Amino acid sequence: MLAALAVAAFGALGTLYLMPRHGVCVDRNLMFWRAHVRATPLRNNVYMLSAYGTDLVQGNTTALVGDDGVLLVDPGHPEMVGKERAALPDLKDPRVRLVVDSHGHFDHACANSQLFDDGAIIIGHGSIWNYLAEASSWHSRRRGDAPQVTFENALTLRFDGEQVRLIHTPPAHTEGDTITVFPRANVIHTGDIFVNGTFPYMENSDIDGYIAAEELLLKLADDNTLIVPGHGPLARKADVQKSLDRMREVRKRIALLIDQGLTRKQMLARHPLDDLQPGPSREVLGSQAVAGFVFTSMTKALKRAGKIVVPHVTPARAVRSFHK
Ligand SMILES: [Zn+2]
Repeated sequence: MLAALAVAAFGALGTLYLMPRHGVCVDRNLMFWRAHVRATPLRNNVYMLSAYGTDLVQGNTTALVGDDGVLLVDPGHPEMVGKERAALPDLKDPRVRLVVDSHGHFDHACANSQLFDDGAIIIGHGSIWNYLAEASSWHSRRRGDAPQVTFENALTLRFDGEQVRLIHTPPAHTEGDTITVFPRANVIHTGDIFVNGTFPYMENSDIDGYIAAEELLLKLADDNTLIVPGHGPLARKADVQKSLDRMREVRKRIALLIDQGLTRKQMLARHPLDDLQPGPSREVLGSQAVAGFVFTSMTKALKRAGKIVVPHVTPARAVRSFHK
């Protein structure tokens, strides 16, 4: 009983005092003590690494291993790196040599600095460098946080017998979204342009970018491709198609409500996306949050394009011209 009380109190303390603010990098957080990493062998020495047992958000990681050492895509939080290594098979050279960031968010890239200190090179799109080196939103700058190797459109890494292709997508979730393709293994790591089983986190995102990025993803995949999503279980092409269909429907519905001249509040009162909720409706992943994010970003884009110039142009006319 006492033990149970102690555990309950400890859990509450952990939640109250040790839970980081959303979007913040954390070190030595108690929430990681009970975290584990599951390694799923995919093909040709490519593994999907997923965290479980922690309430802290951590994206999926992909590992390529071989004689050259380890390449990690989206290592996540620093506390998880040791667990990721331990989940992989015994290797002749277990050092992490290369790290690829799918984008700069904390739940994918917090371990950059630690891995850099251990000798790895961090690789990412140029805008990830801007985000992490200049105006990091999740912690004060640390050595090695921002990528040392940057690219604009695409980059090939020849490592462990693979020609790993990094492809920058149209900006969707962030400006730096990058898909990583392992052609020999026929595996793709998507980052947060695609998550499996829930809505993605869409604040400050671009719905048209999501649609374009997922269309590109479908072109790169075939029916045998194993797709590691930003979050959620391993996916196939059909899961991406489902997500793309949902994104198109979200865009259509929100555009229609903007077209009718509704305010954000009036739009939300209609619960326009509730029936599209793919999984658990938690906070920022709920249909109402998504409706709000998409409404805000679409109206901002219309204003930027000069297609809503209040009061001379009505939203209805604006959206028609936006569609052409
Ligand atoms: Zn993200």
